[in-house]
Amino acid sequence: MREGIHPDYHQAKVVCNCGNEFVTGSTKEDIHVEICSKCHPFYTGQQKAASARGRIEKFNRKYGVNTEK
Ligand SMILES: [Zn+2]
Repeated sequence: MREGIHPDYHQAKVVCNCGNEFVTGSTKEDIHVEICSKCHPFYTGQQKAASARGRIEKFNRKYGVNTEK
């Protein structure tokens, strides 16, 4: 491999808005991202689960089901 024709390639520390940090290979040393695989709703399923819970609670209230036992 000839020198000088390739950009510096090193381990980059990626910091996400959620606080998650991981290391990846990049030509940049530090990367800041707003969303990562740890906090993305697609991966966590949190958003989906939250809306499903909301629907169940609404249903229970409507039909007078007491969920607090
Ligand atoms: Zn994240």
